[in-house]
Amino acid sequence: MTPGPTAAHPVPVLPSRGPVRPLGLAQVSVTGGFWGGRQAVNAAATLAHCETWMERLGWLANFDRVADGTTAPDRPGWPFSDSEVYKLMEALAWESFRTGDEGAESALKRLTARIGRAQDPDGYLNTCFGHGDQPPRYSDLEHGHELYNTGHLLQAAVARLRTRGEDELVRLARRAADHVCRAFGPGGRDGLCGHPEIEVGLAEFGRALGEERYVEQARLFLDRRGHGRLGDIPLGRAYFQDDVPIRKADVWRGHAVRVLYLSAAAVDVAVEHGDDELLDAVRRQWDRSVARRTYITGGMGSRHQDEGFGEDWELPPDRAYCETCAGVASIMVSWRLHLATGDVRYTDLIERTLYNVVAASPADDGRAFFYANPLHQRTPGRPADDGGVSPRAESGVRAAWFDVSCCPTNVARTLAALDGYLATTDDDGLQIHQYAPCVIAADLPDGRRVAAEVETRYPADGTIRVRITEDAAAPWTLSLRVPAWAEGATLTDDGRARPAAPGTASVRRAFRAGDVVTLELPMRPRFTWPDPRVDAVRGCVAVERGPEVLCVESHDLPDPALLDALVIDTRGGPLPDPRGGRVTGRSPARPDAGWPYTATRPHAAWLIPDAETGPDGSGGEGFDVPLRPYHSWARRGPSGMRVWLPSSS
Ligand SMILES: [Zn+2]
Repeated sequence: MTPGPTAAHPVPVLPSRGPVRPLGLAQVSVTGGFWGGRQAVNAAATLAHCETWMERLGWLANFDRVADGTTAPDRPGWPFSDSEVYKLMEALAWESFRTGDEGAESALKRLTARIGRAQDPDGYLNTCFGHGDQPPRYSDLEHGHELYNTGHLLQAAVARLRTRGEDELVRLARRAADHVCRAFGPGGRDGLCGHPEIEVGLAEFGRALGEERYVEQARLFLDRRGHGRLGDIPLGRAYFQDDVPIRKADVWRGHAVRVLYLSAAAVDVAVEHGDDELLDAVRRQWDRSVARRTYITGGMGSRHQDEGFGEDWELPPDRAYCETCAGVASIMVSWRLHLATGDVRYTDLIERTLYNVVAASPADDGRAFFYANPLHQRTPGRPADDGGVSPRAESGVRAAWFDVSCCPTNVARTLAALDGYLATTDDDGLQIHQYAPCVIAADLPDGRRVAAEVETRYPADGTIRVRITEDAAAPWTLSLRVPAWAEGATLTDDGRARPAAPGTASVRRAFRAGDVVTLELPMRPRFTWPDPRVDAVRGCVAVERGPEVLCVESHDLPDPALLDALVIDTRGGPLPDPRGGRVTGRSPARPDAGWPYTATRPHAAWLIPDAETGPDGSGGEGFDVPLRPYHSWARRGPSGMRVWLPSSS
């Protein structure tokens, strides 16, 4: 491990080896467009919104009470509320660097001073355990979240260290990490945290500081899990992945955010230690979980009861949990796997998840969020109370804050650091993975400089122009990801167009400033059919346009009640529409029989678009069904919505 405390490569993930190297916030700057707009709202509204709510609810004052020795048994917030403060601090650290925003910088310093006062002399930092009348330290490893909180503190410190260098936040995080190593390292307690996160925090903090012992402590935690060290619980030990060692597991199971944070850490440790067995285990789990347990949106975790993965093919659209945090965590895993392998399947999934999970969560004003992201809302939710805490994750409307409020700060830190997920370099050039208007400038290991500006309205249209901004002394390779859905894409270089198959399209030459390479992605809306084994949506079809999954909202139907029995004409394809796409639908007026089951198979005539009425009197006029991006749903007030549409064929 070579990077040390003075290294300044502002990026959330920086493996010490791998086929590609991520570019950070100093090398890539998003300048506008779809993501630039969301980053601006995040900076202008969400960061302060999060701090205000945590102040209002006493989650920040919890630190003051520890510092002042005034803790009481009735501490406000869940045991993991400290982590929301740390995730906000991580977001502030990225934001302070990204834009030089003084408000973000002063907020971060203010919070650093406040949490620092609560740190015990031995490095322990937690507001729920170990002080006054509180339960003793590490007395509830299954549910206490102490190490989980510390993991988020370390990630915040990584952001600070890589953007501004060592400061008080980094120093107090070091003390916390050292405490964890003493308490849980060799000779310490043989325990682990019910919620993985300390592992990914330790691994990256170790990389950022060049401290191998932190990475080794992460490995110890990883290998301790899966042997039943945690107590059994009604949901079973799979809930916190203590059922099967990660090296032996074949699929993601249990609580989605937990298994994904754990997998992210496993990739980090595997890369740092050259541990191919561990890396292969995560790749195997990704393969099967993406093939059988992932929604078309990229959403993960169908079950509400444990915020967890269901069985293979268990992907009901209406009971889809798809926690926003699981989307963030999925991106964390896929980005690490891409950096370890160079495989663009991982960056494809990142794009899908960014547009259809992460982008769905925040309201336009950045002050309300989706926690769960179902693919079918039968009844419009109740209008949100912006002044209150939402007790429910699955309300059908974005809420200002939640009783368990993990998602807002997770969205905040992801958007603030998004520039660090767009592009990589290897020994011979630049790879651009996610398309946003941005400027890129980086040096290759041999000193060649790659510099370009990306101009695009993507995903509003599919034209991505990469304009080279510096003359090159020697040839280098520009590589552009062509998404798996983009059959028929073209790449134009120096006026010559050629087909660009899904995967990667590359141009290698001695570029001159002003040269333009243009990738044209096909943006006509398209039908997408589910594997029949996803039986909850058998007979249905979805419509996608570019990276966006589209949906129907009840607002857009002639009568909102038509949403229930909508049938889509799938002859031909969906039509282009400024809103996203459109199809023709019918919604047969079947009589309500009082018992929704019958010995007679319903006549299929009402599924045939040309049939005005079926023999049983069903049928009806066709009508226009506008489709909008899923991420835009419930932005015009509460609505019914569905992604999967019953199909006529
Ligand atoms: Zn969450």
